Amino acid sequence: MSRVVLVTGGSRGIGRAIAIEFGRRGHAVAVNYAARAEAAEEVVAEIEDLGGRALAVRADVGEPDDVAALFETVTSRLGPPEVLVNNAGITRDDLLLRMDVEAWDEVLRVDLRSAYLCTRAALRGMLRARWGRIISIGSVSGIAGNPGQANYAAAKAGLIGFTRSIAKEVGSRGITANVVAPGFIQTDMTAALGEDVAEDVTGRIAVGRLGRPEEVASVVGYLASDEAAYITGQTIVVDGGLAL
Ligand code: NDP
Repeated sequence: MSRVVLVTGGSRGIGRAIAIEFGRRGHAVAVNYAARAEAAEEVVAEIEDLGGRALAVRADVGEPDDVAALFETVTSRLGPPEVLVNNAGITRDDLLLRMDVEAWDEVLRVDLRSAYLCTRAALRGMLRARWGRIISIGSVSGIAGNPGQANYAAAKAGLIGFTRSIAKEVGSRGITANVVAPGFIQTDMTAALGEDVAEDVTGRIAVGRLGRPEEVASVVGYLASDEAAYITGQTIVVDGGLAL
């Protein structure tokens, strides 16, 4: 069955792989982005090449007015989102003693407030349809903690409590909410950390290599399917054994 899917931060990295995974599964995909219109249009073109329907929509998902406009556009062009993937995220790493309020607020805004805004906007249509899937991209940092990432870990841990609460609020209406928590995946976000960090982390990954965005996307695709109707409020770790 074809669904309407909204992937926040779908222009690059993990979000891009998720958008393409849904396109491959025959769904109509809204590819949200913050700044890189060209990258989002490339994802749209790739989905259309697979025979699917897609739309790129700019919105800063940490801002209420942008989120309202995003949902209006997606609903009028594709229909109300039946699957929401809260994927957009940023890091502003620093040790806590050096972390300024701006770095704290910005990460909480983009990584956590966005999920509140988008989920609230998506729930209206899902409740009417009595079917919905909310999948938020967390991180093993939100489970195990990570030095230099107190803001990011707080936001990602926040997504877990948020998701469990939503799961209880709307579970009886055919709507599930889950977190997928990746470890170290090869994207622009992790490339910025440099070769040395990647090498050091690889040494701690049980399967002995970094993860690929597609390896996160396939789990998200499964959680959005009808087969996953009995999984809710969970955090699925996709980290090659990093956090064991
Ligand atoms: P990237 O930096 O590669 O891509 C980030 C995406 O988010 C881009 O599409 C970007 O849009 C978008 N984005 C950023 N800020 C906003 C905003 N305010 N509003 C809308 N979109 C925004 O990140 P990754 O693919 O690596 O990460 C994706 C998610 O996975 C994040 O939530 C991240 O925390 C999480 N994660 C990543 C891990 C990794 O190892 N890479 C590990 C664990 C979790 P644009 O292209 O326009 O800039």
